Amino acid sequence: GPILGIETSCDETAAAIYCGERGLLAHCLYSQVKLHAQYGGVVPELASRDHVRRINGLIRAALADAGVQAGELGGIAYTAGPGLIGALMVGAAVASGMASALGVPLIPVHHMEAHLLAPMLEDPAPAFPFLALLVSGGHTMLVAVRGHGVYELLGESLDDAVGEAFDKTAKLLGLPYPGGPHLARLAEQGRAGRFHFPRPMTDRPGLEFSFSGLKTAVLTALPADADAQTRADLALAFEEAVTDTLAIKVERALQAAQLERVIVAGGVGANRRLREKLAERARRGGFALYFPRLAFCTDNAAMVAYTGWVRRRDGQMPGGALFTTPRWPLDSLTPPRSAA
Ligand code: ATP
Ligand code: MG
Ligand code: FE
Repeated sequence: GPILGIETSCDETAAAIYCGERGLLAHCLYSQVKLHAQYGGVVPELASRDHVRRINGLIRAALADAGVQAGELGGIAYTAGPGLIGALMVGAAVASGMASALGVPLIPVHHMEAHLLAPMLEDPAPAFPFLALLVSGGHTMLVAVRGHGVYELLGESLDDAVGEAFDKTAKLLGLPYPGGPHLARLAEQGRAGRFHFPRPMTDRPGLEFSFSGLKTAVLTALPADADAQTRADLALAFEEAVTDTLAIKVERALQAAQLERVIVAGGVGANRRLREKLAERARRGGFALYFPRLAFCTDNAAMVAYTGWVRRRDGQMPGGALFTTPRWPLDSLTPPRSAA
């Protein structure tokens, strides 16, 4: 039967239904962005409480949109981690209650594995093996993906995640939270060449990233009385530095891991300049490039339902029983039995 996916790891509450024969049947999402904007960041306790308020309605809406009765479900997948522990527990509790009431399997899902598999919901879907660039609010990772659950971490950020760097820099520029998309919009008004920031850690070998210095470089270059044009110029220079850095490391990782396909996932995967730059390098470099649709770059339950469906099909549920974990290394996952 179809799998219900539940996402509550941070500040998006979402439910979706994925079916092996018919694909994605429904996906519903409520973003808490407005709730947290007044505090300039996600307030964990408020996030948990808002998940409690929203989740049942979203599950009902997803079932109705899909035309599926709860009794027809073949399993309940939920994001078990990584994420905010109180927020994760809301989804886990609802999922576990439903699974035991319906007598179907409870499927814990790794949030970053779900981000990584989001491009599988598109047509054409990438074939294994591929390189994954995971760029979200909490993670920046290059992963060699040989198959489901076979994840080799090639490099990650030594300090701020890319999304975090976008958000912190946006805050410096006086933009509302979450700043990434606002900064990208401001950068469209920017003039090239007025500011130039380094492409961190590209001048030496390796696949590690460091983004906290860029934020400091913007702060140093920002005049106290910066006008709108200056702020736009800074936004553009920052975005260019970040997206160049990511594109350079993607090409380097492709070579190192001997891969020919790249998928980009996570919220920063919605960034237009990043998409354009990678597309241009893909044309020149002869590699294939895959993105999820914009709505499935940031947090959503479609990717959770899909990942749960894969894990259930292949008979391997990481952890197996009800659990939540704020930290959970992606490369600690194991391949599903049938793929081993
Ligand atoms: P994680 O998945 O690591 O736990 P998260 O779930 O909070 O973190 P996502 O929802 O995947 O992260 O992505 C949110 C991040 O993406 C935010 O930092 C946001 O600013 C950034 N982001 C979203 N759209 C854009 C954009 N167009 N340009 C740059 N950054 C963006
Ligand atoms: Mg979010
Ligand atoms: Fe996420």
